[in-house]
Amino acid sequence: MIKAVRGTRDLLPPETALWNFVEAAARDVFRAYNFHEIRTPIFEETQLFARSVGEETDIVSKEMYTWLEDGRSPEQMLELAWVKVHGKGGDWFVPPRFQKPSYYPDIEFRPPAGERILLEFSSRPSLERLRLMRQYAGTWSEVCQQQPVLRLVTDREPSDFLQREAARLDIEIETVELIDELSQSLTLRPENTAGVVRAYIEHELWQRGLQKLYYIGPQFRRERPQKGRYRQFYQIGAEVIGPPSAGSESPARDAEVLEMLATFLDRLGITGWTLELNSVGCPNDRALFNEALRKALEPVVAKMCADCQRRAVMNPLRVFDCKVPEDQPIIDKLPRISQFLDEPCRKHFDEVQTILKATGIPFTLNDRLVRGLDYYTRTAFEFTHGALGAQNAILGGGRYDGLSESLGGPQAPGIGFAIGEDRLVMSLPQSADTVSPKPDVYIAPVGEGMNHEAARLARELRGKDVVTELGDESFRLKKSLETASKMGARFVLIVGENEVKAASFALKNLATGEQTSVPRAELARKIQNSTDRSQVATPENKR
Ligand code: AMP
Repeated sequence: MIKAVRGTRDLLPPETALWNFVEAAARDVFRAYNFHEIRTPIFEETQLFARSVGEETDIVSKEMYTWLEDGRSPEQMLELAWVKVHGKGGDWFVPPRFQKPSYYPDIEFRPPAGERILLEFSSRPSLERLRLMRQYAGTWSEVCQQQPVLRLVTDREPSDFLQREAARLDIEIETVELIDELSQSLTLRPENTAGVVRAYIEHELWQRGLQKLYYIGPQFRRERPQKGRYRQFYQIGAEVIGPPSAGSESPARDAEVLEMLATFLDRLGITGWTLELNSVGCPNDRALFNEALRKALEPVVAKMCADCQRRAVMNPLRVFDCKVPEDQPIIDKLPRISQFLDEPCRKHFDEVQTILKATGIPFTLNDRLVRGLDYYTRTAFEFTHGALGAQNAILGGGRYDGLSESLGGPQAPGIGFAIGEDRLVMSLPQSADTVSPKPDVYIAPVGEGMNHEAARLARELRGKDVVTELGDESFRLKKSLETASKMGARFVLIVGENEVKAASFALKNLATGEQTSVPRAELARKIQNSTDRSQVATPENKR
């Protein structure tokens, strides 16, 4: 049996009604703040994410779904490039541990005689990969009674850290150039801000002044699936971006976005949320801060997890993303970005807080909050919710003042957020059943030859916006009544020979049991006028 892939899931009715409820509320609230929808592709060039989200973030370093445009995997592309340099045959060998079986449909791997080079192809090598190679080589040499030479083939210069580790594990690194015309690297979007900023630059949206854009759609990250964490998940997000002359840098924009989020959560009836707020400063502040962090980490880093050891060298700020419990006491003692904000950043942050207080939006300051993406500057925030357990962030966001420039665009300060829709739906007070629309009427054709009359009536009623479910003449009336009440219909309309002749139909109210005869022309009005139709809580009628 073929099942949905791990980390992905089907959203089924009635739960989908909750998703529609949330999305309708979002569109409604965002409209009141003059935001407009943008839809960007779900895949982009890999470089877009590497340059914006950041190479050293968890997302880019290990969670992206990346492939090469012609359908070959990055490993296959590397192998083609390598073979172009070294030729086929010879003393090299790709052990089965590393290969994907589909590459080599008709090659059988036998441990060859004589000294061999064990090749591993990887476009994004990691320490873990190096260790696996070493481990595999150990097993291999036990079986084959010989030490293989280990060589990792990659297409870009690995970091100093990896080069050192490779030397320590006695693994050679060879860099090859990919064959250009075969190798456009694409990635399923792990987030949507990069795509929006790319579109902003590509379509010169700055010419239209301040842009207030929102999006709703799936994002993809190869994370370990657990409750509230999926590999395909959904985000509702918004961005305010524009030239500085349009006011895009103003703390008023930050406060407006935060206030809009509070309004949105309130509108959904979600209570008990906490807004956690921090400023991560500007690149200058961060350079000083990273320096201080590097110093503070030096004496303690050996006791930390492998990820933190890498972060300490590459991008110390990212140590704050660490979730390993044993590392937390160490991280708690590290310096904080709040001590390194320069005067303009501090003033900006103060002003955001002042406006929030004036509009009555509660928040707490959290100077450990750095967010898992590199492009953030100044204001950074998360809304958390107690009911969510370990994955307690419903949404996150912040300012990204240098992002446009780093992608080759003009100066375009901006601020945005992404709401995790999966988690938002989990924190809703409503049950799917209360927001799921029910049929207004169930038409029960009674007796042979009544299906076509019933179909005509259904068409008339649906044309007048009556939600209509159509039964079948093979059902007895009792079965029709049971089916109708099971699906939550409010009325049953009985279509029998006598009713058709009289052009007046028996309409049974399932809640009261009352049954009246209603002339054909009055059916729609009678059904629509009944009071309990409005009980389905849509954002529209909640207002
Ligand atoms: P980020 O883009 O990492 O700032 O995430 C923004 C929000 O998206 C988070 O607060 C979560 O609610 C949600 N989110 C991020 N990753 C996942 C995931 N793997 N599964 C479900 N929701 C997620």
